[in-house]
Amino acid sequence: MLELAAAKIQRVFHSPVDCIGTLLPYDVNAGFVIPNDRHTSSREMMQLAEGALRLAISTNESFVIVEPGEDAQEKPDPSLVPKIEQAVERGEFVLFYQPKISAAYGTVIGAEGLVRWLDPRKKKVIPPGLFIEAAEQSAVIVPLTEFLIRSAVSTCSEWDESVGIAINVPPKLLEKDTLLSVVSDALDFYAISPGRLTLEITERGELPSSAFQYLEGMREMGVKIAIDDFGTGQCSLMYFRDLPADEVKIDQAFVSRMRSSKKDRAIVEGIIQLSHLCEMTVVAEGIEDEKTAALLTELKCDTLQGYHYGKPVDGETFAEKHLNKLQSPESGGYFSRLLG
Ligand code: C2E
Ligand code: CA
Ligand code: CA
Repeated sequence: MLELAAAKIQRVFHSPVDCIGTLLPYDVNAGFVIPNDRHTSSREMMQLAEGALRLAISTNESFVIVEPGEDAQEKPDPSLVPKIEQAVERGEFVLFYQPKISAAYGTVIGAEGLVRWLDPRKKKVIPPGLFIEAAEQSAVIVPLTEFLIRSAVSTCSEWDESVGIAINVPPKLLEKDTLLSVVSDALDFYAISPGRLTLEITERGELPSSAFQYLEGMREMGVKIAIDDFGTGQCSLMYFRDLPADEVKIDQAFVSRMRSSKKDRAIVEGIIQLSHLCEMTVVAEGIEDEKTAALLTELKCDTLQGYHYGKPVDGETFAEKHLNKLQSPESGGYFSRLLG
């Protein structure tokens, strides 16, 4: 049955797709998860399906089927690492930018930079879900993140001074003090004020003990620190207390359900109040509709982010769409500009 579904999906994408005047060829892979008698939440099922998809891509299979309890699918594919290393050298990684909006004023106050791999051979934009875990478990994450920090600061230096930039920094980077010099050199070179840069540190996974000291060093420099994906990882209040941070990002897992679930709404409200009491600002992620945005504003959330305000786009499109408000409809779209 699932084999038939996979074959059907492949037939649909058999021919290249016309995307704003550019014909994009598609390779289709599928990852399936079959429920069994193990107790597995819908979130875990999605993670297993994503793992199966990654396995299908890395082994060049059209589809992979897994069941809860099988663990092979969750391992990141180490064979991707040399390809990522080459791609870093060839400059195939770029940041896409998603707007962050002030809840009080409705203006764009910043952007989150999200990495994309532009594969010029396949003319494809590869999302981070397909490679970032493999990169984070190898040494290549260090040069990749350093490159992305310079790139983010460079792009931000072209924007109005009221607009900041946030970048994701994995725990591995917090084992070395080179991060401090990479950040301060970039800020000096592009002459932007440190308060415009935020480093997002995920709450998932363990932080090295050196992390706290390095993050404190960043804050002394004036750089802001955000706790990302709050509520989905360790979620320890000690972590919340001890991590030197300025901002808390509420994960979309709570935001997307807060209008339909009383518990999710209570959790969001509680995080906002607790963060404010601890003198931290709050960003809500994954806002997809006006009603959720209005509810978050009513609950005194400071900053709003999600597809409702804009999906991540390349730097040029971000500036046109979100900063100038002067859009150029004849520009042909970002795929054609990025991929030639
Ligand atoms: P994240 O840091 O939590 O980023 C938010 C993710 O949610 C992004 O996915 C974004 O495109 C997506 N998103 C934003 N608004 C909405 C919405 O309204 N609805 C839905 N359904 N999704 C929304 P993306 O770009 O695929 O990134 C996924 C994850 O990959 C990121 O989660 C982050 O953990 C990691 N990542 C992305 N860029 C980087 C990077 O430059 N470095 C590192 N180390 N990790 C990165
Ligand atoms: Ca983030
Ligand atoms: Ca997040």
